[in-house]
Amino acid sequence: MGVIRRTGMFVLQVNPILCDGFGHCAELAPELVHLDEWGYPIIAKDPVPLADVGSYESARYAERGCPRQALHVAKVNTPAPVTNVTMRPPSSVSRARRPL
Ligand code: SF4
Repeated sequence: MGVIRRTGMFVLQVNPILCDGFGHCAELAPELVHLDEWGYPIIAKDPVPLADVGSYESARYAERGCPRQALHVAKVNTPAPVTNVTMRPPSSVSRARRPL
């Protein structure tokens, strides 16, 4: 038996041209989708970790359950962590007074 590690992030995206605003997605993924006053989905743009299995499954339910196929779960690459940053001492030139 292997262990499945979920790394990375995802976002739930909506195609506003296809969406008809009946709000079914907010019932299927209430933690990700809120509705505006006309019933159109408002989805947070911040990526969600794939390790958040509940949110990911909800997003997939919403994607499959959208009657207009207006939703898409997109995996996104997050920037690699910055490592081996070398700190340079401040330059003496930057401290020198510039001529007018
Ligand atoms: S379920 Fe699909 S068509 Fe309905 S509001 Fe959500 S995105 Fe729009």
